Parts: sequence; structure tokens; C-alpha cells
Amino acid sequence: MHPSIFNDVIGPVMRGPSSSHCAAALRIGRLARDLMGADFQEVLVEFDRQGSLPTTHESQGSDMGLFGGLMGWDAADERLPGSAEALRETGVRIRIETVDVGDAHPNTYRLTLRRTPDVQHTLIAISTGGGMIEVIDIDGFEVSLFGDYHETLLTVIGDGPSFVQRLAASVEVDEIRLHEHGGKKLVQVKAAEFLSETILSELREVSPDLQVTRLAPVLPIASRQDTTVPFTTCEEMLRHDAGRNTPLWRLAVQYEMARGNLTEPAVMAKMVEIVRILRRSIQQGVAGTHYEDRVLGHQSGKFSQLMETGRLLDGGALNRIVLYVSALMEVKSSLGVIVAAPTAGACAALPGAVMGMADELRSSEEDMAKALLASGLIGTFIATRWTFAAEVGGCQAECGSAAAMAAAALVTLARGSLPQAVAAASMAFQSMLGLICDPVANRVEVPCLGKNVLAASNAFSCANMALADYDPVIPFDEVIETAERVAGQMPRELRCTALGGLSITRTSLAIEAQLAGKKAAGCGASGCGCSP
Ligand code: SF4
Repeated sequence: MHPSIFNDVIGPVMRGPSSSHCAAALRIGRLARDLMGADFQEVLVEFDRQGSLPTTHESQGSDMGLFGGLMGWDAADERLPGSAEALRETGVRIRIETVDVGDAHPNTYRLTLRRTPDVQHTLIAISTGGGMIEVIDIDGFEVSLFGDYHETLLTVIGDGPSFVQRLAASVEVDEIRLHEHGGKKLVQVKAAEFLSETILSELREVSPDLQVTRLAPVLPIASRQDTTVPFTTCEEMLRHDAGRNTPLWRLAVQYEMARGNLTEPAVMAKMVEIVRILRRSIQQGVAGTHYEDRVLGHQSGKFSQLMETGRLLDGGALNRIVLYVSALMEVKSSLGVIVAAPTAGACAALPGAVMGMADELRSSEEDMAKALLASGLIGTFIATRWTFAAEVGGCQAECGSAAAMAAAALVTLARGSLPQAVAAASMAFQSMLGLICDPVANRVEVPCLGKNVLAASNAFSCANMALADYDPVIPFDEVIETAERVAGQMPRELRCTALGGLSITRTSLAIEAQLAGKKAAGCGASGCGCSP
């Protein structure tokens, strides 16, 4: 399925340090809850030893998200920090184990949920970056499910193909798939709505033991069968434009209208809403945030004071950008509401650059939304070919992508041309290749703040270079391919496992031990999930 700007790139709106941990785990949890009909007493969570999750699931918020999802909560729910306690208070027993199963993806969640000793379901899902997920296995059946449909699962006894034929003849749905495993059959139906009771009654006439499970969508933009988009790569987009110099934001609107079956006003309204969320978060960050379980305290307030009184080096708009990036990172680390754009780890570079520059230029809310849309389209080209997951691509996948997106957004704010926006994206991404992921103390704060600032500053420079018609030389699509190749050459230790780089410095390990000690002592990091 083609990525959607609102599903895959600018969003989710969420709380927590990492979208590939918190938001993705929450979505997986919600699907698992639906699989159990919201009725379960025990959860076993298993992570492969060679993956990234054994070392990061607690500190980067997977547990918080997963338990929140199992409670049926939203990604921005203010109760999320207390999700573990909340789940335990409902009587659910939680076990988390590390296993040796050789999962192919570093972010694989293996869940076993039990209602009674005899009633249990299993679900295996992967977090693919930026809060996106794929469920790849349910009860041993190999499935593919992204949370973008109403999914009705039917456990069928009898002749599977003729059941599917009968179903296909009586309903109009997007897709029907028959899965077989161990002599059992599962029919997966993807549609805009769940199968109606009328249809189910008809099906029960031929298959009386039919068992029905409904998995509600967890993504904001639904998918449809045979969705087409006008272009999927930068090169295709430029060919589509055929030299007309259509603004990048307008091409983004065309893309998202086709992808999400939305009107232009609906696309604009969704992005304006995101601008407003970002505005509130920036104000909250500058005003000051507090949270026990984090490495860095409130720093942006002093930066703001010094900036307003002319006591910083004169960086022009760049200082406001640094301020906004810092504010957003502080909101993130205090579990406030942020927009993963494209990820929570890299949530600040793009919005900080766009909102900071827009405030300097006194741009309208609509102009900010247009700039974010432009950046979103650049992000879809990355998501189509590659990933935003640091576990796969290191920080070049997170902050590198954010820098490319922000550079195109800034050119859009400056009303530069389409080729200039694309050139800015290419130059910005080129400069971020090879960036490793090595979070200090296993928290998404240090060097993440600096890397977000770097991405935004790089975007600012590349936007101006592009406006002056600097030549990026390497087309943007080829830079994405290169990032993927570089990722393949990066050791696992430098891809968000906290096993290399700054993560294993003496200071990082000491801070990690200190934070863990506070937790074990019941530090008051409200709902940190550390119940003994
Ligand atoms: S170093 Fe980069 S990729 Fe890694 S957690 Fe920090 S922001 Fe994310």
C-alpha cells in the first residue's frame, strides 16, 4: 500500500519518546486487545535477543505504548505514563521475556494473550518506523495487516475455497484472503466496515461453527482496494509535473487526496490541525516541562530569555529554530503531546524548522500547513522506498529524513520553485548519510536533541543553497537508495540498540544506572511501569 502523509509521515499525534516504540506498540496492543475481544487475563510479551527491543523496550516506551494499547487507549492519551499499573489493576498478569527465535526484523513483538488456560491467541507484529506496524502472524496464520482497514477474521471449518466464493458473491469488500495452517483455516476480510450481522448469519448457515473476530483500524487514513497515487518517487513526480513548476505542497495535496480519498479542504484542514497541535506543544515546551525520568531538564526557557534579550550569537531565524526544536524535544521527553514527523525521536527538526522560520516570516497558519504538506510528500518518497526506523537505518533514517523533509518545507515557505525544493531535500539528506543511532542512557534525548538541531540547521542551510540554485548533483531518489545501502553496512550496535556509540560511554552507563535506581526506588516517575 502506498504510504499516506498523515499515516506514515506527519503523525501520529502521540506521547512518548519514540514512535517506533510507543505509538507502534500502542497500535499493536490495540489490535491484540481486539483479537481477544477486550477480555484477557494474561499477556506474555517476547522479544528476540538479537533484535533491538530487549535493550530498549522499557526505556524507549514500548511497554508504555503496548500496555496503553492493551487498555484500548489512544496514542495521545494522558494516562499513558500509568498504562502498566492500569493494566495490572484490571487483573491482567504481564510477563516480558527475551527469547532466541531469530526474528528477521529487529522490532518484532510476539504476544500471547490468555483469557483462560484453554482460550488464547498469539500475534506477531513488527514496528516498521514512525509508528507504522505490520501484523505478520495471528495464531500461526501468516497474515499481513497494517491497521488501515476494518478487518473481520473468520475461523472456518469445512471447505475454505467454497466459503470464500460464497462470501465474495454476497458482499463487496476490498480483499478476502484464505489462510491455512495446521489443518485450520482463517479467512481475512478487509473492508471499509466490518461484515454485517446479516452477512454473518447467512455465513453461519453454511458454517455453523464460524468464529468471528473484529480488528478495528488503528491508522487515521483508511486504505482502499486499488488505491492509486499520481507518483511514488521524486523522479516520477518531476515527470508528472512536466516542467509546470507546480508548488510541492500542491503536489502533496494531489497525492494525499488520491491516497486517502479526501477532498483538498479535508487535507488542508488536517494539516492545519497539526499546525495548531505543534503550536501548543512549542508554547508548552518554552514555558517549561518537568519529568523525573529523563536525562535533560528544561533548557529551552533560558535559551528563549537570552535570545529575546540579544545575548546569543546572532543566528537570525536559526536561533528561533533551535529554540523551537529544543522546546519540542523537551515536551517529548516529558511525555507531552508531540507529532511524530516523521518519528518521535526526530519529532522536532521539521516542525521546529518550519514553525520557527514561519514565525520569523510572520507566515500564516495555512502557509505552515503547506510547508508541512510539502515535507510530507518528500517523506512519502522515503517511506515508499525505505524506512524511518532507526533500528534498520540508524539516525540517518530518522534525523536524515527529517532534514530532507524540512529543507523542502523551508524552500516552500520561501516560495521557491519545485526543483529548488527537491534540490534542498537531496542536499540535506546527503549531509546526513551514515548518522548512527546511539541514545545516551537508552533515552531518546541525547544526542537526539543535538541531532534534531543539526537536521534543522542543515535544512536551513540547504534551503538557502537551493534557493540560490546550488547543484545537488545526486538526485533525491538516488540519495534514498544510498541511505539504504549505507544502513546495510552499519553494524547492529549503531542502529538503536544502545550497544554502541555514545550509548556505551561511562557517563551514559552511569546515567542509565542512576535512572534505573530511581525507578526501582519508586522514583515518582508517574506510571513508569516499574512496579516491582
Ligand atoms: S540518535 Fe537519532 S535515531 Fe537514535 S534515538 Fe536519537 S533521534 Fe532517534
